[in-house]
Amino acid sequence: MSLIAIDLDGTLINTEHKISKENIKAIKKAQELGHEVVIATGRAHFDVQSILKEEGLSLYTVGANGATVHSPAGTSILSVPMQGDKVKEILKVLDKENIYYEVYSDDGIYTRSYAKNILLDELASYKDNVPEDEFAFMENQYEKQTGQFGYIYKEEHEELYTDKQLVYNINVFSFDNEKRLAVLEKFKNANDLTIVQSLDFNFELEHVNASKGKAITYLAKVLGMDIERSMAIGDSGNDISMLGVVSDSFAMGNANDLVKAHAKYVTETNDKNGVAKAIYRYLDIEE
Ligand code: CA
Repeated sequence: MSLIAIDLDGTLINTEHKISKENIKAIKKAQELGHEVVIATGRAHFDVQSILKEEGLSLYTVGANGATVHSPAGTSILSVPMQGDKVKEILKVLDKENIYYEVYSDDGIYTRSYAKNILLDELASYKDNVPEDEFAFMENQYEKQTGQFGYIYKEEHEELYTDKQLVYNINVFSFDNEKRLAVLEKFKNANDLTIVQSLDFNFELEHVNASKGKAITYLAKVLGMDIERSMAIGDSGNDISMLGVVSDSFAMGNANDLVKAHAKYVTETNDKNGVAKAIYRYLDIEE
């Protein structure tokens, strides 16, 4: 038996922010056949569990791009937090910029209560300057980013991190490409960080040993499953590490070219049940 690792946003979840009936059916079919289906996402595990619960799914969860692994019951199996001094150093750099960011911790997603205004101001500046469909996409990304489960709002920068907190991921988000890339440049050469991109307008900083690929390899070992006969599917840069460790790697039809180049197969888009189609192909069964 094997693992089937599925990314969430842009992969299992469609542009309406929903998991289709077809995708749920395919996941349940794979489970019936004895495969272990795993969600592997940049989201925090408590956010994922709240989404899965709504759909009646009970799955292992690789969260924060591989910095955490949890059982379907919510027990921690792997935890790769960032070093405290590193977190402080990063937040100091980010606080100098007027940029939106979130601190993914063990108990919640820490953000400043007024930080959404940074994104709303950015959106407002694009409203009349980009094509309508592009602006609608930006608004959609804003809703998705700020609609996560588990926010903990704080007033001051200094309250976003204490030494007692385990931090798995720092997610930096800006619609302003120039500004975001300039901030990214400040971290690019750090050899003690993993930097990935999961959305069009973000980048994420993590412990150098955290990745989706490493996390699913570890989970397969714990469950006694063969990673080299497993499947992984995704759409973004943060999925490339897991596409590289399995035998059957799938890129979504809506993935970018770089992700497609790292996958063995390209399936349909997230609005056309690309996950279900890939699972049936992997299992070699009819829909
Ligand atoms: Ca994704």
